[in-house]
Formats: sequence, structure tokens, C-alpha cells
Amino acid sequence: NRPTGTPTIRELDDRTVRQIAAGEVVERPASVVKELVENSLDADADRISVAVDAGGTEGVRVRDDGVGMDRESAERAVEEHTTSKIDGIDDLEAGVGTLGFRGEALHTIGAVSRLTIRTKPRARPGDGGNRETRGGDASGTEIRIEGGEVTAVGAAGCPEGTVVEVEDLFFNTPARKKFLKTTATEFDHVNTVVTHYALANPDVAISLEHDGREVFATEGRGSLRSAVLSVYGREVAESMIEVDAEPDSTDATATVERVRGLVSHPETTRSTREYLSTFVNGRYVTDGVLREAVLDAYGGQLASDRYPFAVLFVDVPAGTVDVNVHPRKMEIRFDDESGVRTAVTDAVRTALLDEGLIRSTAPRG
Ligand code: ADP
Ligand code: MG
Repeated sequence: NRPTGTPTIRELDDRTVRQIAAGEVVERPASVVKELVENSLDADADRISVAVDAGGTEGVRVRDDGVGMDRESAERAVEEHTTSKIDGIDDLEAGVGTLGFRGEALHTIGAVSRLTIRTKPRARPGDGGNRETRGGDASGTEIRIEGGEVTAVGAAGCPEGTVVEVEDLFFNTPARKKFLKTTATEFDHVNTVVTHYALANPDVAISLEHDGREVFATEGRGSLRSAVLSVYGREVAESMIEVDAEPDSTDATATVERVRGLVSHPETTRSTREYLSTFVNGRYVTDGVLREAVLDAYGGQLASDRYPFAVLFVDVPAGTVDVNVHPRKMEIRFDDESGVRTAVTDAVRTALLDEGLIRSTAPRG
């Protein structure tokens, strides 16, 4: 039976539109963690602690010592499409220096959970206990939101910085809640997200706790190797080899300004590609081309179906890469894909050759 006639086209009600939009940003606990950690990084935090319960399905808490918010900003922050990060589309064209800018994360998360924000602005140097700061900004603000409704706003005592707590994710969208996987799977996603931010920001102390137990904690002293040690353990950290190349701007690989980071000894491997972490202009991307480029560098030195560890930062000129800024995607397209690929392979190959870990005659790819 084929349908006949013209289907009726209806306008969706606001609530439906909002829930659909929310699903684009918040798919699972790991998406909440990603948005909150990005906010903490954008807020210039030196320490970020992430704690989740039951893989994040029961609770997510992200605490930072960043710039914090005064009461007015906090109330604005949870509204729809509010951001302090860009003024308009022209800023986007110029390239954004922050991780967020869409101004929808807090609002959206609040629409599908019970959200509590406690925040207090960081005191400016020289403010130390003088004048109005004691009464005004010195006290923090707490805002609670349940399923998109602000249920409480008030003063709260809290340290400088921001704590965002998300409980009962999807309590009001049962269809979406049903798509959540097991606690173990949801936690894996959370762990992946926090791990990549910890590796990308070794100057920030980032910790992860699951059901009250510490999973890892980086020191935030700025060393990539020490971040790798905290996240992957001693055996991996000690096997890592430094990569640092600045492909000559005059040759064909001018599309890449710098390739730096750490890659593992060809015998320190795992059975999946998930430990091949690549970052383009500081942003974590799961890009097949970059992963292949790293693998190519090892030539025939890897056992079959074994993959090394890599934490590799590839810097390219801003205008030569299209980062799909969809909140859930981390895909990119390079103007000169093969140039980037060659530059990355060469950088890693040089590092492995210098250590005598591959033979110069090793076949390519
Ligand atoms: P976006 O990050 O795209 O601006 P969000 O909804 O994630 O949108 O956040 C809205 C605003 O709230 C941010 O622009 C920022 O000003 C403020 N904000 C959010 N999280 C924090 C935080 N942890 N510390 C300080 N300010 C924050
Ligand atoms: Mg944000």
C-alpha cells in the first residue's frame, strides 16, 4: 500500500524542537563531560576534576579553578544561545581561540537533566580582601535547573571557579535514556574524552574519578611525557619516543607547520587503534588519514593487528583545514591531505630512525 495524496506538513512544537536540538549536542554522559571540560579549559583553569557515577548515567561533576562567573553572568550562561566567547559570525571567520562558542551547551544540558552550577569569580590580583569584593563577588552563586526550568538561584559559599553537577541525565526524555549502553561502555566514552583533554593540555592538572575511585590524575606541570605516564602508566610512558619536526616551508609539505608529540616503541602496542591520538591545531580528531600516516612510519615493524601508542600534535595554517565544528564530531578535512599525510609519516619515521627502531629500508605503508 503506497501512501497517496500530499502528506500534511506541520510545525513542530517548541518542546519537540528543543529536545531534538538537545539530542544533537548531548548524546550520552561523555558528551556532557566534553562540553563541561571544554568550558573549564576556556575558563583558564589550572585544575579540572571530573567525577562520574555509574559511567556518568547517574551523575557527572566537573570542578574547575577557572575565572568563574558573577551572578549575572551565571544567569545569562544558562539561557539559550548565550556565550562570552564570540560576538558574531565575523569572529568565527577569523578563527576561534576557544573550544566552545555555540553558546548552547549549558542550556541544552539543563534541558535534559537536573543541573546545578556553583560558581565564584576569580579575584583579580590586588583585590585581596578589599572593599566591595567581600560582599559582592566574594560570595558565590548557585543555580539549579530541572528539565530546562530554573528552579533556584541564590548566593552560595564556594571556592573561586566553577562546579557543574549534572544528575539524572535524560530523566525527562525516556526514549533517549533507553539508548544509553552499559555503565562500562558509557564510562569508556567518558574516559576517552577526559584522557584526550588531559593529553592535549599537560599544563592543566586534570583528574578523573569513577564511582569515588581515582582513575588517573595528571600533574599539570606541562610535560607531555608526565601526562602520558599518569594516563597510560609507566611502561608506555618509558617507551615513548619524541617526535618534533617543522617541515620546511619551501617544500611540498608546506601545509604542515609542525608535528610534535610522542610515539611508542614498535613493540609497545595494543590490539586497537584507539591509542593513536591525533590533535590538529590543538583539537582532538579521530582522523583515519592521520592514523594511517603514523602507522606507515613504522613500515613493517609492527606485528600484524598491533597498533602503537601515539600522542601527536599536527599544526597546520588555520585556513587550510576544515574542522567540522558539529559538537559531537571530530572530523576534519585538509586542503592538502596527501601533503599532511607525508609530513606526518616523515616526522614519525625520522624519530623512529633516529632511535634505531626501524630500518631505513623499511617499506612504506
Ligand atoms: P559556549 O561555551 O559555547 O560559550 P556554554 O553554554 O558552554 O556555551 O557556556 C555559556 C557561557 O557560560 C560561556 O560562554 C562562559 O562565559 C560561561 N561558562 C560556562 N562554563 C564556565 C566555566 N566552567 N567557568 C566560567 N565560565 C563558564
Ligand atoms: Mg561550552
